[in-house]
Amino acid sequence: KKIEELDVTEITIPKDCRLYEFAEKIGKTDGDVIGKLFMLGMMVTKNDFLGDDELEILGEEYGIEVTIKDELEDVNYEETYEDEEIDTTNFVTRPPVVTIMGHVDHGKTSLLDKIRSSRVAASEAGGITQHISAYTITKNNSEITFVDTPGHEAFKAMRVRGAGVTDIIIIVVAADDGVKPQTLEVIKLAQASGAPIIVALNKMDKETAQPDMVKGQMAEHGINPVDWGGDVEFVAVSAKSGEGIDDLLETILLQAEVMELKANPKCPAKAVVIESRLEKGKGPVATVIVKNGTLKKQDSFVCGKTYGRVRLIIDDLGKQKKEVLPGEPAEITGFDEVPLAGDVLVAVDSDKEAKETAQKWKEFLEEREKSKSTKATLEDLQKMILEGELKKLPVIVKADTQGSVEAIKGSLAKLKNEEVKVDVIHSDVGAITEN
Ligand code: GDP
Repeated sequence: KKIEELDVTEITIPKDCRLYEFAEKIGKTDGDVIGKLFMLGMMVTKNDFLGDDELEILGEEYGIEVTIKDELEDVNYEETYEDEEIDTTNFVTRPPVVTIMGHVDHGKTSLLDKIRSSRVAASEAGGITQHISAYTITKNNSEITFVDTPGHEAFKAMRVRGAGVTDIIIIVVAADDGVKPQTLEVIKLAQASGAPIIVALNKMDKETAQPDMVKGQMAEHGINPVDWGGDVEFVAVSAKSGEGIDDLLETILLQAEVMELKANPKCPAKAVVIESRLEKGKGPVATVIVKNGTLKKQDSFVCGKTYGRVRLIIDDLGKQKKEVLPGEPAEITGFDEVPLAGDVLVAVDSDKEAKETAQKWKEFLEEREKSKSTKATLEDLQKMILEGELKKLPVIVKADTQGSVEAIKGSLAKLKNEEVKVDVIHSDVGAITEN
């Protein structure tokens, strides 16, 4: 197709713009723009996204004033919250939020259970069977909140969305087994997140425990023990006997003190969803951790693509509460739809405002999703599919929690090769129906 020569001197384009869109806007061929960038030492194809730097260079090359418009700005309710509500005059210390991660069978669950049972009275502890995804304990008059991440994939998703909830990461390594593939993955995640790391050397009750061997392995991957002159605390524990758990909790509190974690309980709430599900009779239920402000019953809120009004607040022992303070977890109901793990909940003035904000956010995400998934691939993929070179496997994913859905989708997305592409056409929380 012949491209009409335009005389363009200035353009406004959205962030995340592909080369061919840019070319179209300025009335040049894709080849022309690719050539320009090639001459400057950059190899790009027509479907590649152009970064801010590349756009600036191209603007200069073509003598065009390029304005990049970040459409996110108009709808980003999280940013509005930050601008208006963070009032430092009322700052108080808040509990640290701690995530425990590690290789399978190294004792993550046992450790979480042991720490939790140290808090509740023995008579109470026996009666708890419900799934816990977060809880708070008190140690030396200070609180610590523990989060059970549904899986590494979900943790990654939360981090990618910039909604990091974790202040401190505990990496569990079984002292009799040492560093394993998932341990390495966790180390990478932890280092990338920038959160301070504490290593729990677990299963120290076992005769085969070799703490020094584990320290050596960890040091090889940049996790250097303090007693070897490094900066990471290693605490020897046994989730079975309970030995060392006090040490671990004290180490966490010391780390938290250094971090000076503060929040303002007097402003509207901002919280992060760590898990969500659909429950019969209750509707959508989400476990959230409040990052700032106080979340109260009857608060109107927006939460990603959904919104609602807080109906019930339930703590990890199943007791009803009236409010949740910064750094504390709780299960809440009152959502219009099931939110996603990693979604940020912000309390707003009215139901109307909540609904409108969520609607705008939804539209924005859908637009962006469309432009990302279809534009680049449409021409090329469609052709390949038509020619039978690439087959699509349509899949519907349903699972018990949003965390599981994200994890399964993440794994499926990785399953592709030259011949077959997995296409998740629909995903949701809930039971499988005939439809
Ligand atoms: P996760 O997969 O990391 O959550 O590991 P689990 O907590 O399920 O523990 C895996 C296995 O190790 C279970 O059989 C536990 O009973 C056992 N285990 C966990 N911690 C200890 C410990 O400190 N000492 C011993 N001897 N066994 C442990």
